[in-house]
Amino acid sequence: MELLLDLHPDAYPLEGFRRRQLLDWVYGQGAGTFDAMTNLPAATRQELEQTYLLNPFKLIETVRSADGSVKYLFTLQDGRQMEAVYMPYLDRKTICVSTMVGCPARCAFCATGAMGFGRNLTPGEIVGQVLAVAGGEDIAPREIRNLVFMGMGEAMLNYDNTMLAARILLHPGALGMSKRRVTLSTVGIARGIKRLAAEDDLGIKLAISLHAPDEETRKRIIPTGQVNSIEEIMSAAREYQDVTGRRITMEYTMLRGINDHLWQAELLAELLRGLVSHVNLIPMNPWPGSDFESSTEEQIQAFYDLLEARGMDVSVRRSRGRDAGAACGQLALKRPNAHSGGAA
Ligand code: SF4
Repeated sequence: MELLLDLHPDAYPLEGFRRRQLLDWVYGQGAGTFDAMTNLPAATRQELEQTYLLNPFKLIETVRSADGSVKYLFTLQDGRQMEAVYMPYLDRKTICVSTMVGCPARCAFCATGAMGFGRNLTPGEIVGQVLAVAGGEDIAPREIRNLVFMGMGEAMLNYDNTMLAARILLHPGALGMSKRRVTLSTVGIARGIKRLAAEDDLGIKLAISLHAPDEETRKRIIPTGQVNSIEEIMSAAREYQDVTGRRITMEYTMLRGINDHLWQAELLAELLRGLVSHVNLIPMNPWPGSDFESSTEEQIQAFYDLLEARGMDVSVRRSRGRDAGAACGQLALKRPNAHSGGAA
């Protein structure tokens, strides 16, 4: 049965006024069933029910953290599992969504990478995370104003589905998000960065998970052959900025004794010279079985100070959900067969 959420709002199966009503039920009110759509004729509801699946998820675990963030673990129709994280910051409600079950990039410090690749999520399974989390928090889906494609998976390797999901998120008849509040994060897929640059009507923001300024360290922590060299990534980033004029966020997970040396801060400042960027230093979120630890507070501060002294725009992101053990992929990783389907 087709997932209704996989459709672009302009392709919804009703016309005019009825289509707007349907969209409002789905995205405005987060209706869980076609039956709840009481202003649609009964025959229409029945027809929709027989043709489309409305909710692709079953919620199986929620982990609430002392800082307010909430991790949701869902089972999909095929039994595979994936996560979304809700982060109710003081001034804005943010959701971090997954684009895949598992991830082929296999970053060595990441719990999702340790799962390997399960499958790509469909556009509706990506967008549906907003609806499911809103339902879990008892808020209207449109109250979630910020979204980051930073959960499980490498969005650029599920490019078409992620782009359609982004278009649904921004569509005024659907979730109506502001393009300035939607950020796509990539581990550095140069061809994807170039394609995104060409989607000029979309206008969402770009974050690149660089994590190291030198090839040797980067290859050690991001071993997948699908990832480009630093030179190729920087070339794509410059092209993106030339075309879009938008600032790029550079994500840098701080790994103790691996990528937190001051010579690497110097090299990073050198590498980013001339690019309008913001460097986000992220203390590693530890998970059982990981070979890596987060850098110490002192080392992070020293790294920060050096970048700032070189004129970089830099901040330290405090990972949310640390007390819940909520590193990306950790909930799914602890369940057997989570990415291969058939899991409980
Ligand atoms: S950090 Fe992101 S790209 Fe790397 S393995 Fe984890 S989910 Fe994939």
